[in-house]
Amino acid sequence: MAKIQMTTPLVEMDGDEMTRVLWQIIKDELLLPFIDLKTEYYDLGLEEREKTKDQVTVDSANATKKYGVAVKCATITPNAARVKEYNLSQMWKSPNGTIRAILDGTVFRAPILVKGIEPYVKNWTKPITIARHAYGDVYKGVEMKCFQPGTAKLVFEGADGTKQEEVIMEFTEPEGGVIQGMHNRCNSIRSFARSCFNYALDTKQDVWFATKDTISKKYDHTFKDIFQEVFDTEYKEKFEAAGLTYFYTLIDDIVARVIRSEGGYIWACKNYDGDVMSDMLATAFGSLAMMTSVLVSPDGNYEYEAAHGTVQRHYYQHLEGKQTSTNSVATIFAWTGALNKRGELDKLPELCTFAKKLEAATIKTIEDGYMTKDLALITTMDAEKVHKVNSTEFIQAIRKNLEATL
Ligand code: NAP
Ligand code: MG
Repeated sequence: MAKIQMTTPLVEMDGDEMTRVLWQIIKDELLLPFIDLKTEYYDLGLEEREKTKDQVTVDSANATKKYGVAVKCATITPNAARVKEYNLSQMWKSPNGTIRAILDGTVFRAPILVKGIEPYVKNWTKPITIARHAYGDVYKGVEMKCFQPGTAKLVFEGADGTKQEEVIMEFTEPEGGVIQGMHNRCNSIRSFARSCFNYALDTKQDVWFATKDTISKKYDHTFKDIFQEVFDTEYKEKFEAAGLTYFYTLIDDIVARVIRSEGGYIWACKNYDGDVMSDMLATAFGSLAMMTSVLVSPDGNYEYEAAHGTVQRHYYQHLEGKQTSTNSVATIFAWTGALNKRGELDKLPELCTFAKKLEAATIKTIEDGYMTKDLALITTMDAEKVHKVNSTEFIQAIRKNLEATL
């Protein structure tokens, strides 16, 4: 069979530890035999980030702006232990944070549903997609420890010479306290709203959004106001035509509604809410390793990745020569998402079809009972049907199913 041709390269961002190992096996077994794979390769492994003083991360984000589609492997975000382990000259920032800051996007996360892996919430019959605003708030916050009595103030000096000042707290007790300042930009909130509404029209799903505007009457209320304004002026008619709705409520109310719902909508979340809720949803839908993630920028660039980390614990076992049973589904879906998008943009239907077939082969493999340990532990399938396989066997089983459909 002739290999499927590509015209524009994908931006390939390699990563760390166990996911780097899986990355290579996925390429060797599931992609290179079938596609004339064109990528522009960036090694975001920690050693290369150290060597290039993290320039490679910036370069990979800029390449994404140039080509439009990237696929990223999980990477280590260094902490003190990693600085020691890798003998780093600095505690380099989170690559995802750097990339998101350059692309200014919204992260959409959706679970991959398969028969035999039932959500803990039994009424969730459709996936719930979390749209996480990937800019600002506590992630760009400034903080102070003020461990003595004193006055903390919030001050804004306008370019026009006006000044706004508010007392945050008069600390009177001897040990003082802590303070935090955070921001968001109206522009970023507006593009967050547009990304959500565009993605909703693309995927034909309603949008739900919530903040705590009753308590945060200026900060959170601005999110609410901007979403409503963008919806009313740019999307209302398109939503009506598509039979979709936009629904706003309070964050605590939405949590209750999400649990009672059947799924099938986009849940737009502020940055912190999205961070927390996406891990809760991933786990409640079955496994962190079954969650896809795509960063969509307002100017239409896409970066696909798995939602989980580098699976460090498994990597250490791998280094000891032991077999691991690491789930590669979300990483495979990062590749299929990117290949499908590349196919759409370059009008290569064969590439899109291949991506869909690889997804179907992956799901069939699990539904046939071949699964990694994380799924074997939670499946509702009859025990005699379940074959717990190692990382390589799982990918080879997918290859067999894929070849049968090509
Ligand atoms: P993690 O890599 O997501 O793994 C946490 C645990 O979840 C694993 O030990 C494993 O549980 C289970 N797990 C996650 N993915 C799995 C998979 N594909 N297959 C099977 N089990 C899976 O999180 P972490 O250990 O907290 O973080 C490790 C490194 O990843 C850190 O350096 C962190 O900075 C980085 N990280 C990167 C990203 C990213 O690049 N997007 C995101 C998060 C974390 P068991 O051990 O019980 O089997
Ligand atoms: Mg998180």
